[in-house]
Amino acid sequence: MRVGFIGLGIMGAPMAANLVKAGFPLAVHDCVRERAAPLEALGARAAGSPAELAPMADLFITMLPDTPQVEAVLFGEGGLASVLSPGSIVIDMSTISPSATIEFARRLGERGVEMLDAPVSGGEPGARQGTLSIMVGGRRQIFERCLPVFEAMGSKIVYTGPNGNGQKTKLVNQVVGSLNLLAAVEGIRLARSAGLDLALTLEAVAGGAAGSWMWSNLGPKMAARDYAPGFMIKLHAKDLRLAIELVSELGLEAPGTRLCHELFEKAVAHGLGELGNPGLIRLWEPG
Ligand code: NAD
Repeated sequence: MRVGFIGLGIMGAPMAANLVKAGFPLAVHDCVRERAAPLEALGARAAGSPAELAPMADLFITMLPDTPQVEAVLFGEGGLASVLSPGSIVIDMSTISPSATIEFARRLGERGVEMLDAPVSGGEPGARQGTLSIMVGGRRQIFERCLPVFEAMGSKIVYTGPNGNGQKTKLVNQVVGSLNLLAAVEGIRLARSAGLDLALTLEAVAGGAAGSWMWSNLGPKMAARDYAPGFMIKLHAKDLRLAIELVSELGLEAPGTRLCHELFEKAVAHGLGELGNPGLIRLWEPG
């Protein structure tokens, strides 16, 4: 199966590299041309636009920031949809709107093109190590056909049901993760203000009932004031906006999610959007 990969950012570049390492013939595209170079060095071919990529592959993966970029790459000028052959498969691995995903899958279906939504969790380390958790929505038969591609990038691959369910599952992941992150921010601030040894605090708390991925992975970064991206605050704010849209659609009360959304939006407004998400702590620890 020839794979075309669009979006070679913090996540896309290492995910695409794992596909080459697993032996898939790969073609790549990013609107920032230089981002293709490290993949070309591994043996991938580069294309100047999604349309130019179309004849180079049968299965297309998008790993883009948000819904408008995915829409542009699929349906915009020079986009994939108008040039893909029937029978091609599009897998969107970005985190985007579930309702837009359902609509994109419908529009592609009209052209005989299959779509899966397959957002991921596990961050840049998971992308590099090929240990992402991948949450897949779409037709089961297409999911099964694509399993070897997912296995090259992830270690936990879960089929969640029809199109949109992958994105909804990812938003559940973001609600739980964001609240854990906020908890870690407050824990580190409290430990620092109380004059505790942060390394010892991190170790003690990680071993008990309050341990979490956020505490163990991002707590040490907060302790070291390391805010390099990572998962950028502006993308985390986008995920919380999508989660708020979903809880509002469902008429659900979600006070914790609303608080996290407000705080992440505030961080973006304070110019912290390009920092990694442990940088949320900068709202209270400027400089
Ligand atoms: P990123 O900003 O580092 O990468 C996005 C890439 O897409 C960039 O290289 C950009 O140049 C390219 N791009 C943007 N618009 C384009 C277009 N129209 N045509 C072609 N290329 C275009 O973002 P990322 O951190 O890699 O995240 C990508 C997606 O994965 C987002 O939806 C994010 O929410 C999600 N995600 C990120 C992480 C993480 O830890 N970074 C973890 C899980 C999920």
